[in-house]
Amino acid sequence: MAYLGNAARTKEVLSKYNMSAKKKFGQNFLIDSGVLDGIVEASGVTKEDCVLEIGPGIGSLTQYLAEAAKRVVSVEIDKTLIPVLNDTLSEYDNVTIINEDILKVDIESIVKEYNEGRAIKVVANLPYYITTPIIMKLFESGAPIDSITVMVQKEVADRMVMGPGNKDYGSLSLAVGYYAKATAVMNVPPGSFIPQPNVGSAVVHLKRYEKPAVEVGNEKYMFEIIRTAFNQRRKTLSNSLSNNPSLKVTRQQVQDALTEINIDEKARGEILSLTQFARLSDILQR
Ligand code: SAM
Repeated sequence: MAYLGNAARTKEVLSKYNMSAKKKFGQNFLIDSGVLDGIVEASGVTKEDCVLEIGPGIGSLTQYLAEAAKRVVSVEIDKTLIPVLNDTLSEYDNVTIINEDILKVDIESIVKEYNEGRAIKVVANLPYYITTPIIMKLFESGAPIDSITVMVQKEVADRMVMGPGNKDYGSLSLAVGYYAKATAVMNVPPGSFIPQPNVGSAVVHLKRYEKPAVEVGNEKYMFEIIRTAFNQRRKTLSNSLSNNPSLKVTRQQVQDALTEINIDEKARGEILSLTQFARLSDILQR
């Protein structure tokens, strides 16, 4: 089998189909076999697993996944890539290509149809323009997902894995930390792709918890607190939260709640852990 994950084959396929990478779909094709191996290894995919791949492109990562997994379901938005994929993946009988926008597909029905409802693993070199909406959809869909192993912009990877007190710590760190344990796998330079992205990239592995990391009475309310706190990062929590009418709290109530959990009443959101945000949320909802 001629693997696609190198510069020569990738150029050959693109020129055979008279195509070039489309910026609007965030197309940067992987041409580094070491990185492809690294992604599959970090994903822990075995012959027992069904994989959901987002954005197969010309099929470079799909080939590696097809060899490691029992079944691969790849969702690609760009219809002009479908004939290319049918060609480059013709040797594999365990790959299904779905021509759809991942943000519009019902992930639960994919899991039902292709893995009898058992948990799947998500593996992808994500289109960077919609990384966060995709990750949030995967978590919030309620579909059984065991883990998510993805290539993202380095800066986004940093935000996913950081804890309180770090400059990259924010609402994405907390949202990811609520659902999963995030581990940085490797940094990937622009030269590993055609065309080269303008930013550095990194692979992260998100292993989903069986139940969320903290218990909170009203999950939506907690995430609204978190969103508000980091939208106005430089403000104290008592100022930012009392400025958001949907939270229905006064500055004094926020200060009292912070004191109750032994946090300085002038604190900003960046020093609170997920557990502390959950407690703050529960107190403010009383
Ligand atoms: N997996 C390939 C690789 O590693 O070489 C391509 C990765 S490229 C960074 C991202 C892929 O996601 C492209 O093929 C792009 O067309 C596809 N894509 C972009 N937006 C999408 C969406 N909303 N739903 C599904 N696929 C999408």
